[in-house]
Amino acid sequence: LSPVDSYRKQHEITVTGENIPAPFITFESSGLPPELLRELLSAGFPSPTPIQAQTWPIALQNRDIVAIAKTGSGKTLGYLIPAFTLLRHCRNDPRNGPTVLILAPTRELATQIQNEALRFGRSSRISCTCLYGGAPKGPQLQELERGADIVVATPGRLNDILEMRKIDFQQVSLLVLDEADRMLDMGFEPQIRKIVNEIPPRRQTLMYTATWPNEVRKIANDLLVNPVQVNIGSVD
Ligand code: ADP
Ligand code: MG
Repeated sequence: LSPVDSYRKQHEITVTGENIPAPFITFESSGLPPELLRELLSAGFPSPTPIQAQTWPIALQNRDIVAIAKTGSGKTLGYLIPAFTLLRHCRNDPRNGPTVLILAPTRELATQIQNEALRFGRSSRISCTCLYGGAPKGPQLQELERGADIVVATPGRLNDILEMRKIDFQQVSLLVLDEADRMLDMGFEPQIRKIVNEIPPRRQTLMYTATWPNEVRKIANDLLVNPVQVNIGSVD
């Protein structure tokens, strides 16, 4: 086996798609900016997790990805690192709307993602705001007006704010659906579809899910263009 094949076998990585780049087995091989590498190393992370190693190089080719991996596999940085790379190259004025939009099922998750984005995005000088239900809209709208490169949102609250015309998606070029299976279980499919309809179609889309039932396959089929599928662990 080649080193790439043996890495994939050892970490139970299966990839479906054409011309799949080799995983970034070490941080050093990833070509990430030195400040970002320093932040990852100082967090005590020895190397990319398998999902990070395999999805980073694919995402950096601007391809759509559906990644199926269980909780705790490091998915958040799996999409945040490509988001930072995009933002380093594409400096839109955040007051005109986000460049990266991340959808997550709950307030807790959205907040965790925002914290991770602020922590590891410091050297990339990103701004990030969070929109979720169960809290007044006012302060969230105020922060949004100040501008954010990355918006992390639950679909219900984001759809409300969209209907109020308080957010513009014309600059969005990366859309992430985190825990897609859970968002569908929570009944967010109509809101997700309304939101995605407002995003320019030339975007890149990354979808993460722990399970791969028919409903998730169907929405992946509708929202992603020719996606590479990456599975970590046994495929159900
Ligand atoms: P998931 O979204 O797949 O459930 P998370 O992104 O929440 O996983 O990551 C799980 C934990 O692993 C977090 O505490 C995160 O900080 C940590 N982590 C992320 N990347 C790495 C890495 N490369 N090495 C070690 N730990 C990591
Ligand atoms: Mg997660």
